[in-house]
Amino acid sequence: MGKIAEFISKETDIKNESKRMTVLIRKICLSFLALSVFQLLLFAFLLHSGRGITLWAFTIAADFLTFYISYHSTKKVVLSVFISQKILWITASMLLIGWDGGFQFFLILLIILYSFGEAGYNNKKLIFNFFCFVLFLFFLLFFKGKTGLIDVTGMERVIETSATLVFCVNVAFVATSFSKASQEVEEKIVNYNKQLEIEAGEDALTGLKNRRNTNAFIRSLVSEHDTFSICICDIDFFKKVNDTYGHEFGDEVLKAIADVFKKKQSEGVYASRWGGEEFLLIFPGLNGDDAYVKTFAIRDEIKNITVPNGDVSISVTMTYGLSEYSLHHTMEENIREIDEKLYMGKESGRDRIIY
Ligand code: GH3
Ligand code: MG
Ligand code: MG
Repeated sequence: MGKIAEFISKETDIKNESKRMTVLIRKICLSFLALSVFQLLLFAFLLHSGRGITLWAFTIAADFLTFYISYHSTKKVVLSVFISQKILWITASMLLIGWDGGFQFFLILLIILYSFGEAGYNNKKLIFNFFCFVLFLFFLLFFKGKTGLIDVTGMERVIETSATLVFCVNVAFVATSFSKASQEVEEKIVNYNKQLEIEAGEDALTGLKNRRNTNAFIRSLVSEHDTFSICICDIDFFKKVNDTYGHEFGDEVLKAIADVFKKKQSEGVYASRWGGEEFLLIFPGLNGDDAYVKTFAIRDEIKNITVPNGDVSISVTMTYGLSEYSLHHTMEENIREIDEKLYMGKESGRDRIIY
């Protein structure tokens, strides 16, 4: 099994090209090979039809050729070869086996493959779709209800069922491959946005500065040897808010709190979102005592926020750890001390400032 997977996903000689389409066509070719071998045996041993043997032998050869080409050519060439040989095959099966073989439905597969396989939307796709539609209509008008050149009496059901099965398998291959592709693109965009956000130094939800920007700001204050204080605050029982009113409402609370901090920026306070429901405030130029007075006022304002939720309004409290920054200690040591104070505040009942 591992060997087959390796065989299918093997690189092509062409560099700088996604091999998704090539791998997909290889998978489809393999399922066609299984179908063709089955039909070959059926036509050779049960129907005793030379024409049938020829049809399926050619089909096997065409799929082998496509498989071989897929290792050495661009996906455009592989797709063109695959589509061309399949149109010939569908037409030949229609002539030899007739409408009841069910092979005309593979035209739908070709339309899907070509639509996804070629980049963008262009006239070529429109023309190809139209061509397939006309061919399908032609088969419907001239072949439906008639038998083909080979007498398949007694085996119609077997032929049609095996073709339908392979058709379904192929549609699943195509759908899986392309839904995976779109998911990957989505994931890439989300990660890219996150990266942009980090580089911009801003938190997307609240618009406050993020941790990266905060670290840089603290370093710049330290290099100026200025007095400043830092406060880390954390919403009390925020998990309960989320659990009771939903995560989206929780986000609204975070934004309302951030708005209070943003207003403080005009008074020189630097506010950032330090983590999930934790914020970090910096008071440049203020010693611990002065910063405590400011934090006290902030605590009151936060307590007075009401976030509407239907008929009720919800208020929250926060716990604060505050210290004047010690230039004799590293940034990590300073932050650790403030974190410990915050923890003490939580332990001793919350809704308080530990200074
Ligand atoms: P404590 O008073 O001890 O701080 O209790 P708590 O429930 O606030 O603390 P805990 O750390 O148990 O839970 C924090 C919660 O914050 C859990 C997490 O789901 C929530 N949270 C973190 N980031 C976000 C966010 O961006 N949006 C929302 N809505 N919730 C968030
Ligand atoms: Mg927390
Ligand atoms: Mg909390």
